[in-house]
This record gives sequence, C-alpha cells and structure tokens, in this order.
Amino acid sequence: MTLHQNLIAGEWVGTDGVANVNPSNTNDVVGDYARASADDALAAIAAAKAAFLAWSRSGLLERHAILKKTADEILARKDELGRLLSREEGKTLAEGIGETVRAGQIFDFFAGEALRLAGEVIPSVRPNIGVEITREPVGVVGIITPWNFPIAIPAWKIAPALCYGNTVVFKPAELVPGCSWAIVDILHRAGLPKGVLNLVMGKGSVVGQAMLDSPDIQAITFTGSVGTGKRVAAASVEHNRKFQLEMGGKNPFVVLDDAELAVAVEAAVNSAFFSTGQRCTASSRLIVTEGIHDKFVAAMAERMNGLVVDDALKAGTHIGPVVDQGQLNQDTDYIAIGKQEGAKLAFGGELIARDTPGFYLQPALFTEATNQMRIAREEIFGPVAAVIRVKDYDEALAVANDTPFGLSSGIATTSLKHATHFKRNAEAGMVMVNLPTAGVDFHVPFGGRKGSSYGSREQGKYAAEFYTTVKTAYTLA
Ligand code: ADP
Repeated sequence: MTLHQNLIAGEWVGTDGVANVNPSNTNDVVGDYARASADDALAAIAAAKAAFLAWSRSGLLERHAILKKTADEILARKDELGRLLSREEGKTLAEGIGETVRAGQIFDFFAGEALRLAGEVIPSVRPNIGVEITREPVGVVGIITPWNFPIAIPAWKIAPALCYGNTVVFKPAELVPGCSWAIVDILHRAGLPKGVLNLVMGKGSVVGQAMLDSPDIQAITFTGSVGTGKRVAAASVEHNRKFQLEMGGKNPFVVLDDAELAVAVEAAVNSAFFSTGQRCTASSRLIVTEGIHDKFVAAMAERMNGLVVDDALKAGTHIGPVVDQGQLNQDTDYIAIGKQEGAKLAFGGELIARDTPGFYLQPALFTEATNQMRIAREEIFGPVAAVIRVKDYDEALAVANDTPFGLSSGIATTSLKHATHFKRNAEAGMVMVNLPTAGVDFHVPFGGRKGSSYGSREQGKYAAEFYTTVKTAYTLA
C-alpha cells in the first residue's frame, strides 16, 4: 500500500505509516498515512516561518488562482473524495459528497475574498493628517482539526489562512488523515510555494503539543474537545498568540404545541441522528411542550424505525457507523447512565450487527428526561437524544438556555411571536427556526457562545477577523 507522506517545506517526507481504518468495515484499510514526530512539527513551523514574508507580499491574483484551482479540482473530484470521506469517517455517501462540495465552495468563496480585501481611509481628528486602516496577515497559523468533518473543517480554516497571506502548519485528526492529505496534495499541485502550507499528520499529544509550545506560531485555530481547547487557550496566552476555539455543544431543539408535527420530527431526526449524531451542532436535547409531547414522541419512534443504519457506502443507508470503538464506548456508557438516572429508553440504543464488522449503534431516544441529568448536560457526540417535557414556551426557553454550551439552538413553531422571541433570546451563536440545529451555509459566520467557542467567528467574510491583524497608519499631508 502506498504511504501518504507529510508535506514539509514543499517535500513529501516520512517513512512510518499508520493504517487508516474504515469504521463501516474494520477489515478495510483506506490507506497508510505517515505519522509526524515533534521534530517534524518543528521543521514544518520553521518552513512556514521562512515562507511567510514572500507569501504575505504575494500578488492577489496568485492567491486567487491557487484557491480557485483547488476549488475546481475538489468539485470535479467530489464523488471520489466524498467516497474517501465516507470510507474513513463513516458518514453516508450523500453526506460525504455534500461535505466535499461544501469544501470546494469554501475554496471558491475565499478565492474571491482574496480580491476583495479592503481597508478604510478616515480623516484624523487633527488637521492635515490622514489615517489608513489596513488588514495584514497574522503570520504562521497553526490549524488543528477534529475527525467529524474531515474535509469541510480543514477547508474553512486553510482557505482563509492562505487567502489573507498567512502560512500554515496543519495537523488533522488522527482518525481521518485521508481527506486532509488529499486537499494538501491538491493545493501543492495548484502551485503553492514551498513552505506556505505544511501538513503534519500525527498524534495530538506529540505534534499538536509541539505546535502549542512553539513561539513561532502567531495564531492557532482549533476545533475539537473542551479539554484540548483549554490546553490550546492556556498555551496561547503563554505565548501571547491569537487563538480561536470551536468546542462542544449541547444544543437544544424546542418543539412547541403549535409546531407542524412533520416539520418538527424531520428537523429533530436530522438534528439528533444524521451524521450519526457526530456534529458539534447536533441536538441531543429535544425540549417539547405538553400538548404535543406524546404525538411527537410517537412520530419520532415511527420515523426512527424507518432509518437504515448500515455501511456508510451502501445505497439506502441513512445512518452510518460510529467513528471508532472509543466513541462507541462513550455512546453506550451514556445510554447506561441515562437509564440509571431514571430516563426511559423509548427507542433504540442497542449495538447492531451488519454484514461487515463495524461500529453500528441503533439511534437512541430517551423520554422522561430532566435537564439536570448527565445525558442532558454533557456532550455525548453520538446518536443519542433525550426528550425533556416542559409546560410552555417560557419554560422551554429557560431549559434551552440552561446549559454551559451555546453553539446552536433550534425551535419548531408556527408562532411568529415565539420564533421572534426565541431568535432574540436563545443564548447561542446560531439559531434555527423550523430547521435542524445542524446544517449551515458556508458563506456566513459560524460559531458559538459560552463554553462552546472562543474568539472571533469562522467562515464567510467574518473569517478575516481572525486571519488578519489590523494596522492603523497616520500620515502628515
Ligand atoms: P475529539 O477527538 O473528541 O474531536 P480532541 O480535542 O481530542 O477531540 O481532538 C481534536 C484535535 O486536537 C485532534 O487533531 C487532536 O489530535 C488534537 N489534540 C489532541 N490533544 C492535543 C494536544 N495536547 N495538543 C494539541 N492538539 C491536540
């Protein structure tokens, strides 16, 4: 099997490979991927540092052309890359191809943004002085990504970093190196100068930690767990560097008595179980008012009964496997905890066997849950959701906001009054009305509040906030 190597200073390097295993079929090895050492990480950081000055002054048309070429190749290869994504991560083929298209669209968007960066010219409060406000690249950007969006998250961090003239050291998640390797290969062939983008696949505790400890990285963007996010924050404060964190969620989805039942059920099933519940914007708290509660639970069970859980690459599969054994253990532990806490397992929750050995779990729905239970407070990151019964809208809103997290928040209602009030008062970075809590556009800001996020927003033109630094220049006329 060919070894997929790391890219450091424009050279493919590395000898030791680790197998990338398909969670739908653990006998299927997707490929061998090199594992970087701490020294490799330091070499990558040095290469990015050396490449910075030239790239930060590079012509906008050069950046535009490389990002556009990358977008075009990703889109042209969407079926193949989408398949690779589903094979290494376990989301369905439709979801894998959809995510790949999104990655292409993100590169296309930032190809355009490279030509649109503008500053401001403002008169000084003093006579005969002009003030210019410009945005400059930050320097070497460290990018650390999780396994659940193997191509979209790398895309939405790498594209703006390069667009605004930064150089990059990129460490993807251990479980899904395939899509990351593919987009780095595409960018490299699209003509990026040596050292502008460096790929260091490897362990968080080794490669990631070496990045956190380096004084030569001026900004780190991280998506992953709360625990690692806190380490990124502490190390970044130590080095006086910019940082941006996207971490957990415990997103509420409120269903009011006046909701259209079919709309509510569709959005709730999508929020809780699509992509096997492994989205930081997934909902695992379904907060339902009394009048519709029993009808909603019955309709959910019926809809869940029709979901096909199987090999991610098979036609007709709605829900693929859980990503690995560790995550599966976490999901089943929480199902046991929910039962112990007194919630009622109304549907699913059992391990299931399929034709191939994989991490298959029947999506689980708890009822009679309270918002104080651990299954309602802690992020599970699997296809496990709990219904919490509430009296009315006011209680629903209070329960929705009673969480340490604040990424996404959804409501199903036909009431303009409640929808408007919810949009205003949901303590979350993103609010969805009659739509799933997950599933966002690529050209508008993404991010959360409270314990979910730190720093400025990702995606769309708001990304410039993180990937540039502002300069104010005064000139005597
Ligand atoms: P999860 O695996 O639950 O998504 P993690 O926070 O463990 O969350 O992983 C997210 C990313 O952070 C991965 O790329 C992982 O390798 C990386 N990572 C883990 N530990 C560290 C660390 N000590 N320093 C830097 N990065 C790390």
